[in-house]
Amino acid sequence: MTTLQATLSELHDRLAADRPLAQDLTLAELEVLLAELGQPRYRARQVFHWLHGRLATCWEQMSDLPAALRRELAERLGAVAGEVVADQRAADGTRKLLLRLRDGQQIETVGIPARDGRLTVCVSTQAGCALGCGFCATGEMGLARNLSAGEIVSQVYQFATPHARPEERGVSNVVYMGMGEPLHNYAATLKSVRLLADPLGMGMSERRITISTSGLAPRMRQLAHEGLHVRLAVSLHAPNDAIRSSIMPINRRYPLAEVLAAAREYAAETDRRVSFEYVMLGGVNDAPEHAAELARVLRTALPPALLHVNLIPYNPTAAGFASSSAASIRQFADVLRANGVRVTVRASRGRDIAAACGQLKTETNRANRSTIAALG
Ligand code: SAH
Ligand code: SF4
Repeated sequence: MTTLQATLSELHDRLAADRPLAQDLTLAELEVLLAELGQPRYRARQVFHWLHGRLATCWEQMSDLPAALRRELAERLGAVAGEVVADQRAADGTRKLLLRLRDGQQIETVGIPARDGRLTVCVSTQAGCALGCGFCATGEMGLARNLSAGEIVSQVYQFATPHARPEERGVSNVVYMGMGEPLHNYAATLKSVRLLADPLGMGMSERRITISTSGLAPRMRQLAHEGLHVRLAVSLHAPNDAIRSSIMPINRRYPLAEVLAAAREYAAETDRRVSFEYVMLGGVNDAPEHAAELARVLRTALPPALLHVNLIPYNPTAAGFASSSAASIRQFADVLRANGVRVTVRASRGRDIAAACGQLKTETNRANRSTIAALG
C-alpha cells in the first residue's frame, strides 16, 4: 500500500468511527434521514425493522432495499456495533462476551440462562466507569467514554435470535448491570430502553428491563417521571453513610438519605417495587447489626411492599475485599426477614469466568496474546 493509500484508509476509518451507528437512530430519526434522501416514508420502517427486528449487522443483508439506497446509507451510518474479542462459557451456562467497539474500546456483555430456558442479558452502558467504587473492577479503570444507544442495544442483539417473533427471540430480560453507571449516561440509556421496547424491533416489555444505579439521586428522580415502566435497582451495599462512603465515593455527593428519598419517589411515581442490591463484603458490611440497621433505614424510607433486597455474593477482584461466608449471608438474610424486609440471596453466576463486571476485560488485558487467541 502506498503512503497516500494508507493515509486515505486511515482517514476513512476515522470518519467511519465518527459516523452515528445505524442502530443509534429511532424510527422518527430514520424517517427524517430517509425523507432527506427523497425516500418514501415506509422505507424508514423497513430499515428500522432490519436493524432492530431482523438484527442485520451489515447493509448487504437488507436485500429488499435498492442497492443505491444501501450505498447512501452506508456512507452516512455505521452498521456493525461490536466485534467479539473473547467468548467464554461458564460451567453453569453463563456466557460472557468481550466486544471491541469501532474505536478500539472494549466492553463486556453477559448472558445468564435460567433453568426454565429464559435468558437475561446484562449490558454495559460505558467503557469503564467514573465512580470508582472500591470493590469493582470497572471502577478501577476510570471512564473511557459513554456508549451510544446503538452500542447498548447491539449487546442484547448478540444474544437474540434474528428473524424470530418477539416472544421467540430467546432474550426474556435485560439488566443494565454491566460496565458503567447507566444514569451517568442518561440520554443513551433511556434511548436504548425505548429502542428495545419498540414493537417494530425486539418489542421487549419495559417491565422486563432493570436499570441498576449506584445512587445518582437527581437522575433517579428524573427517571421516575419519564413514563417508563423499567425496574430500578439501587446499589446500596451499606446501611449507613460511614460504611457507604468508605466503599462508594459517590456517597459523599449523594448520601444514603438522599438516595433513599429518590428511591421512594421512584416507587411512588411508578408504583413499582425498587430492588436494593447489597454486595456482601466479608468484615465490612456483613454483620447481623448491619442487617438490622439496613432493615431500619429501608423501612423508614419505603413501605415494605415497595422494597426488596438482593444479597449478592462478592466476586473477588484484585482490590483485596473478601467474600462473606455462606453462613454470614444466610444469617444476614434471616435478620432482614425477621425485620419485615423481603430478601433474595442471589446465586453467584459464572464465577469460573470472572463474570463480575469489569473482570473479564481486566483479566484479558493482563493475559498474553496467545491466551486472547485461545479465548476468541
Ligand atoms: N454502575 C451500576 C451498574 C453496574 S454495576 C451500579 O453500580 O449499580 C452492577 C452491580 O454489580 C452493582 O450492584 C455493583 O455493585 C455490583 N458489583 C460490582 N463489582 C462486583 C463484584 N466484584 N462482585 C459482585 N458484585 C459486583
Ligand atoms: Fe461504576 Fe457500578 Fe462499578 Fe461503582 S459498581 S464503579 S458505579 S460500575
